[in-house]
Amino acid sequence: MILLDRVSKTYNRRGPALERISLHVEPKEFVIIVGPSGAGKSTLFKLLTREEKPTSGKIIVGGIDYEHLQDRDVPLLRRKIGVVFQDFKLLNNKTVYENVAFALEIAGITNAEIKHTVPKVLDVVGLKGKESNYPLELSGGERQRVAIARAIIRQPKILIADEPTGNLDPKHAWDVIKVLEKINKFGTTVLLTTHNQEIVNALKRRVVTIRDGHIVSDRAVGQYKNT
Ligand code: ADP
Repeated sequence: MILLDRVSKTYNRRGPALERISLHVEPKEFVIIVGPSGAGKSTLFKLLTREEKPTSGKIIVGGIDYEHLQDRDVPLLRRKIGVVFQDFKLLNNKTVYENVAFALEIAGITNAEIKHTVPKVLDVVGLKGKESNYPLELSGGERQRVAIARAIIRQPKILIADEPTGNLDPKHAWDVIKVLEKINKFGTTVLLTTHNQEIVNALKRRVVTIRDGHIVSDRAVGQYKNT
């Protein structure tokens, strides 16, 4: 599903943000990416969504070789990859329903299909009954689940969750993690970053540790030690 072969990214003369990273993620895997601030995690995600281009190395996602990717193909690539962020990035003047529907509207999906799809996705993330609420009327955990609904509504193959629980208290963090697990169970590849070691330990998933632009460990399953 995701293949990086000796990928480097240098933004400026201060040295590489990522240096010769090689990573292979199978379809339907759930991978946790950990590492201190500035390690290169967001850079990795930006390379996958083509917000940034690598300085060198090969990236293939869902059979698409980024070397041959034309600018006009980028929207198609982004359809395959849903992204959620720590700060939700919701439209506060739109309701829950409208926030999720908007992702379909801008993609030119018909009204009939929007009406059919949005309730289903809100059900998946446990937000039935909240359709008419505005983001600021929701808890942080609920807001993040709106963001997840919006990210998965076009059924991406990959969901990137960049520190999605960073602003949440433990209970709401777990609600979000459970939704990610559910989406993964439905067949979506999930890449998650978190600084929360309890979540890492409890999930018992593959853990990739990035430090100073290098993958310093890649554990199939199990305990992450903060060394
Ligand atoms: P993380 O997500 O693990 O905190 P980042 O990928 O954001 O790490 O950053 C990795 C390194 O790249 C850091 O040294 C950061 O300062 C640098 N960096 C990130 N984005 C940019 C950018 N747009 N321009 C210049 N340097 C950047």
